[in-house]
Formats: sequence, structure tokens, C-alpha cells
Amino acid sequence: MIPQRASYRDIPLYAPPKRPCRVDLSDNTNLFGAPPSVERAFHAAVSRVPRYPKGYAPDLRQALAASLGAKPEAVTTGCGSDDVIDSALRAFLEPGDTLAFQDPTFVMVPLFAKVNGLRPVPVPLTSRHDVDADALLATGAKVLYLCSPNNPTGTALSRAAVERVVDGASGIVIIDEAYAEFARGRDFLDLARTRPNVLVTRTFSKAFGLAGLRVGWGLGSPELVAEVEKARGPYKVSSVAEAVACEVLTKDGEWVRARAEDAVACRERLRSELTSLGLSPLPSEANFLMVPLPGALTVAEQMRERDVNVRAFASLTGVGDALRIGVGPWPLMEAALAALRESLR
Ligand code: PMP
Repeated sequence: MIPQRASYRDIPLYAPPKRPCRVDLSDNTNLFGAPPSVERAFHAAVSRVPRYPKGYAPDLRQALAASLGAKPEAVTTGCGSDDVIDSALRAFLEPGDTLAFQDPTFVMVPLFAKVNGLRPVPVPLTSRHDVDADALLATGAKVLYLCSPNNPTGTALSRAAVERVVDGASGIVIIDEAYAEFARGRDFLDLARTRPNVLVTRTFSKAFGLAGLRVGWGLGSPELVAEVEKARGPYKVSSVAEAVACEVLTKDGEWVRARAEDAVACRERLRSELTSLGLSPLPSEANFLMVPLPGALTVAEQMRERDVNVRAFASLTGVGDALRIGVGPWPLMEAALAALRESLR
């Protein structure tokens, strides 16, 4: 008999329904491809492979700090922003503590809570998809998690509500900005710079087109970041990933910005096509659209039979059943629309 940790008994492995499909719009990655510097940087990094990376990714930390006009000590990095969020939870919460978060939100958050022995407390978003600051603060949790633009709704939080949360919080506020590059300036990095208790997390997996390399980062006060680095531990960013991320950050900014603009344009074109099908996608500041649709799980399965994979959700708080459709080059959107039309028939 393998001894089992009691709190792990009902933890599922992360396995969204997937099957190889010609068009995969299910994970909100950069469907326009990888940035131009990747290939050369990747090959140049091969010589680093036999040795360990530097412990806490100092080159990437330095490059991010320079691009943000921040001190390197205010930046932490990790194996995806998943790792940054998970490390922050470990850094500030003891097993048995509460993690409060907006609901719906990123599906991994309640899972990270369970893996760290925490009590997950979801707090429904308001009918306008904003954070309910009073209800979140009333949980008394030492760590509050916000996400803007939010996965899976795509909606952005208002500055007033986020500032209310930050002003009233007795502990740490994590603001997950995995999709900030699509939000045209609606971000909260300024709070990470000015408030000692705010950690903003970002990723190279979405707009930056490096999901397979697994690199994420966070910005916060040096005191806060020092605790996250302890929980993170060394060697979380591979030497190849660090080198490529540095190169893309310094050389490919224009490509990233242009593709994010393309994604936003395709998103709004997709919105008008979906609206003409009688659907009502939620407002989105991300590179995907959430489309409320009763029976979404069945519709998604039918779309997979037509070689198009989108993510379906059932009974989401305040939304109900819904499809989440990732946005990319228009021919992919046409394929998704064709599969959706046939599946709705
Ligand atoms: N936050 C949000 C809101 C996400 O949607 C995702 C990825 N789906 C992540 C964080 C994690 O991204 P990564 O670990 O690839 O940086």
C-alpha cells in the first residue's frame, strides 16, 4: 500500500478533454507561431545543456527588470506563471489556511490550493464580471487571487474594484495578468511597483509564443519577491528557456505587439460572426472569446469530430455552460465557425 496524503485523495490530474485536432483553439497560446528570434537563440543555447542553469535565472531577471524599469530584486521567475503562483501560495500560506479567489477563474487556482493543503474559497464575480471586493475581503484570507483579463471569461476587472481589494487586504494580493498584452493598457503593474503586498504575474506562454518553453514571471516589492524565491527554489527555469526568453524579450517586442494586435482584430471579427449566429460572446480583453451556450460540452465534442478543438465549460458561476474559443489567424477562425455552425444544426 502506498501511503496517501489525505488531502490529496480527490485531486485529479489536469486533463482537459482533447484529441489531436487539425485546429486546436483550446489553450489560448499564440496561434500565429513563435517569435522570429527563437530558432537562433535556441541553437545558440545548445552548448549550455550539459550544465545546470544559474539558480534563480539572473539573466532573465535582469532583462525583465530592465524592460520594466524596475530593480532585479523586484522580479521573480518560474517554470511558467503557474510556478510563480504556486510558489507564492507556498510562500505566504500554511497548510489549512484559506486561499480566496474570484469565481469563475483560472481552473488551476483551486487545484494549486489543494496541492498546497489550503482551503479554496471561491467568491463569485459580480453580474458585470467584476471582482466583488467586499465579499473577497470578508473571507479574511491571507492571500487573495485576482485575474485580469480573466480566464475563462476574457473580461477585465475594473481599477476601482481592484484598488479596493488591494487597499483593504490584510495580506497578499496576486493579480494574474497572463493575458495583459491583449488588454491594450488595462493592467495593474503600477500596483506591483507601488504597493508592498501586490504580486502581478505574467507569462511568456501567450502573446510571447513560448508556451512549450515554460517561462513565467512576477513583479512585486523586493521583500515580497524574496519570500516567493525561497518557495520557488533553484533551477526552475531551464538554461535554454532562460536564454530564449531573454532574446525574445529584447529583440522581438515589435513582433509580439503586432501579433497581439492581429489577435485582437481577429477576436472582434469572430465576435461579429458569432453574434450573427445568434450567440452573445462576453466582452473580452484576451486572445479568446467566451460564448455562453447551453450544452456546450456536447457542442465541443461535436466540433472535435469536425477536427476543431475548443474548450467547453459546464455550469460556470454566473455564466452557465460556455465555449471558450482561442483566437488566431482568420483561416483558423473560419474553420471554427464552420464546425460550430454544423454542430449547432
Ligand atoms: N494564468 C492564467 C489566467 C492562465 O490562463 C494560464 C495558462 N492557461 C496561466 C496563468 C499559466 O500560464 P503558464 O504557466 O504557461 O505561464
